[in-house]
Amino acid sequence: GTLTVGELAKKLHKEPSEIIKKLLFLGVMATINQELDKDSIELIAGDYGVEVEEEIIIDETNFEEFVEEENEAELQERPPVVTIMGHVDHGKTTLLDSIRNTKVTAGEAGGITQHIGAYQVETAGKRITFLDTPGHAAFTTMRARGAQVTDITILVVAADDGVMPQTKEAISHAKAAGVPIIVAVNKMDKEAANPDRVMQELTEFELVPEAWGGDTIFVPVSALQGEGIDELLEMILLVAEVEEYKANPNSLARGTVIEAQLDKGRGPVATLLVQSGTLKVGDPIVVGNAFGRVRAMTNDLGRRVKSVGPAAPVEITGLNDVPHAGDQFKVFEDEKTARQIGETRMIRQRDEERNETSKVSLDDLFNQIQQGEIKEINVIIKGDVQGSVEALRGSLEKIDVEGVKVNIIHTGVGAITESDIILAAASNAIVIGFNVRPDANTKRVAESENVDIRLHRIIYNVIEEIESAMKGMLDPEY
Ligand code: GDP
Repeated sequence: GTLTVGELAKKLHKEPSEIIKKLLFLGVMATINQELDKDSIELIAGDYGVEVEEEIIIDETNFEEFVEEENEAELQERPPVVTIMGHVDHGKTTLLDSIRNTKVTAGEAGGITQHIGAYQVETAGKRITFLDTPGHAAFTTMRARGAQVTDITILVVAADDGVMPQTKEAISHAKAAGVPIIVAVNKMDKEAANPDRVMQELTEFELVPEAWGGDTIFVPVSALQGEGIDELLEMILLVAEVEEYKANPNSLARGTVIEAQLDKGRGPVATLLVQSGTLKVGDPIVVGNAFGRVRAMTNDLGRRVKSVGPAAPVEITGLNDVPHAGDQFKVFEDEKTARQIGETRMIRQRDEERNETSKVSLDDLFNQIQQGEIKEINVIIKGDVQGSVEALRGSLEKIDVEGVKVNIIHTGVGAITESDIILAAASNAIVIGFNVRPDANTKRVAESENVDIRLHRIIYNVIEEIESAMKGMLDPEY
């Protein structure tokens, strides 16, 4: 960046007049407010034996990417943030309710519980934060947005049912995120409960109990009867102690959106999980692509609060727009900065959305290949019989024009449907109909989504058309 004479003087701890004098010697007539070019700055600084380092320009509008380095001395212990995952009907919701009902934050009893997407309980003098959207949909959405909020996963497995498809999915998600897993073997009150079988089945996923030489914590519980809840919470605190979760409470707050919606009376409402710093009423804030000033804060007991520290969930109002779950938020020094950054992000998002709607069409394929924008053409094939669909797939997969290939993302027998179009729109694909057509509604959706549908009756023609498009030789359509 550039500096004025005055700014440079300040940085060099010299009087501006001295700098002006030096500049005169160099043949430059300058005033105190004059901007200097890079060469002059280097020359003057060099004269004082100071080396000019290329200043790292931190783009505050991309605050997700710039996390200030925390001073180790400022870090303090914070509560762990826990997500409950597992197969449907294995008792996630019941467990969340049971934990909440038995352990309402001490000293706050009597509050009316509010569903704000997360809650805190206190046990043995320590707090634990639970995200109370069970299942991995929320977990995955947040991770897809680059947010990592969960410290510990509780994997709920019903003792009478064992490992099921969503149990496996949950394990994959937790492992992909590198989050420690505690297994809650639930429904222990049931006659058919067989915890040994659950443990046996989980060894296949490297979740091995200590008794069997592993290091996974298993806690037998009955969410319905409230049995084993204390032990489960103890184990969470044990893991937290080992992992040493810390944050600096004495800084401007930042964190992640847990959920958000538009409230008829209050406007945009968002539940934020503070991950570092302390969030206060009145703070100028940017939340995803929304911004504003924190007008009011309500905790999970429906109480108005003035400030909250790390790992606390809180519902805020005062934003100009509704953010998304998984968006990051950051507090800024002053409202002007927050507004500027928020507006820049909003404009950027609008531009990105506009670009996203320019789907691949066969007509502009050649341009995109030329500009190196695409290396693969995504294609969906729908046909009247399985045989021709497979034949078409085989032939298209052989196409290779200067390193650009055809990628078949979906095939099917039958008419082109709306869901084919949605898939195509989401993955920038072209839809090929072989002896099949879209109905009127599907056609309309395709038009509004900018999805290109190509209808053919001869395999050779399909291949020729795609190849010509890739080579920029497509005949203009009339
Ligand atoms: P989710 O789909 O994982 O959230 O499961 P739910 O919490 O909705 O529970 C599914 C069903 O299992 C409900 O009928 C619960 O009452 C029942 N359930 C949950 N936990 C237990 C338990 O510990 N023992 C028994 N017997 N039933 C339970």
